[in-house]
Amino acid sequence: MNEFVERKVELQWHEPKRSYDVVIVGGGGHGLATAYYLATRHGITNIAVLESRYIGAGNSGRNTTIIRSNYGIPEAVRFYQRSIELYQHLEAETDRWMMHQRKGLLWIAHTEAGVRAERARAEVNTAFGARTEFVTPSQIREICPQVDLTGGGIWPVLGASYHLDGATARHDRVVWALAEGAMRRGVHVHQRTPVTGLLIDGDRVIGVETERGPIAAGLVVSAVGGHVTALAAMAGVRLPIRTHPLQAFVTNHYALAFDQMVASSNLLFYVSQTARGEMLIGAEIDRQPGYSYQSGYHFLQSCSFRALTLLPFLRDLRILRQWTGVCDMSPDYSPVMGETGVPGFYLTTGWGTWGFKAIPAGGEQMAELIATGRTPQLIAPFSLNRFAQDRTMADRGSAGTH
Ligand SMILES: Cc1cc2nc3c(=O)[nH]c(=O)nc-3n(C[C@H](O)[C@H](O)[C@H](O)COP(=O)(O)OP(=O)(O)OC[C@H]3O[C@@H](n4cnc5c(N)ncnc54)[C@H](O)[C@@H]3O)c2cc1C
Repeated sequence: MNEFVERKVELQWHEPKRSYDVVIVGGGGHGLATAYYLATRHGITNIAVLESRYIGAGNSGRNTTIIRSNYGIPEAVRFYQRSIELYQHLEAETDRWMMHQRKGLLWIAHTEAGVRAERARAEVNTAFGARTEFVTPSQIREICPQVDLTGGGIWPVLGASYHLDGATARHDRVVWALAEGAMRRGVHVHQRTPVTGLLIDGDRVIGVETERGPIAAGLVVSAVGGHVTALAAMAGVRLPIRTHPLQAFVTNHYALAFDQMVASSNLLFYVSQTARGEMLIGAEIDRQPGYSYQSGYHFLQSCSFRALTLLPFLRDLRILRQWTGVCDMSPDYSPVMGETGVPGFYLTTGWGTWGFKAIPAGGEQMAELIATGRTPQLIAPFSLNRFAQDRTMADRGSAGTH
């Protein structure tokens, strides 16, 4: 079986009803996973997922598909490790091939401070259940022979943390499998249905306004990615979120196997190989906040230059495609999940540049909160009120490039 063998998906589409128990705004990974786990784990199916464009049109269909749990703080390691475990069984559970592949991730250090940081990452990962070990330059050479250990004579490779459970999965297959799994159980997914306002009664959110008419809801969940501040403002919720563009690109295919993923905090890039053989390369967010999906030459130029410093074989390849998403960045680089202080209105946001890997655990935990009314232990540290209560979850391990 290869990537191009497709199974015909038989899905039933509906006209929106006037009312649902739960309305989830946003048909990306987090919105769909929340619906999927509500349906499969809690039997709650009177749900609508409202998507302004098409399933996966946002960041869930634009990311570089890296799945890992090698974060920098215990709360995050535990949470992302749960997501890794769910991903490992998601293909069997949904009976859909997501091209999930365990690859291992080398996170390279070029300075003494970097070595200390990667050693610390390995320690905290091991202590809280993620499989990460520190490796020397000669071990790096064995794991990934393409790495230039001199770092182009500028950024010598001094060591790396090696995260054994680092994996990738095909992003559009993940979102469609979740959508299909939820829809088969009775969840309604409405594409091309932008939410334009919230229905409010007193201090409570009681539904949404859409271009197809109002829809009442027992509970409204915001899962709108980079557009969260606009939606939350409709409920009077001010969020500490900034939206920044994030770009990525792929080259033409590289004939040799590049089996693992490589990231460098100093060179600010990360790379993996797709199933088609293309080299998939990403970097940090654009500094300037914005909602633009415009890709730029400057990003290509600077990111390629940095990538070539460590992986000189890339110079023989050609850039095929470039694209951009808009990321909901939280100030502590950790997600924000749960209640908002406004009755009837929950959110899942702050997924920034790292939320693809979190899709199963984020959906599972949000579903539990919605079904039981109690915040699960795993996501309690990531509540919105942490900012008011001065318990931020600053995590330098969250983005691949810092
Ligand atoms: C270039 C790039 C590379 C990345 N690489 C990685 C990676 O390697 N690993 C990783 O873990 N993460 C990565 N990420 C981050 C990851 O993609 C996101 O954090 C994740 O997909 C967020 O999912 P989501 O469901 O919250 O948001 P989205 O997937 O953005 O979904 C939100 C949806 O809401 C819809 N919407 C918005 N407003 C409305 C409205 N008013 N009404 C109805 N619908 C609305 C949008 O159309 C969209 O489909 C990357 C992101 C980008 C852009």
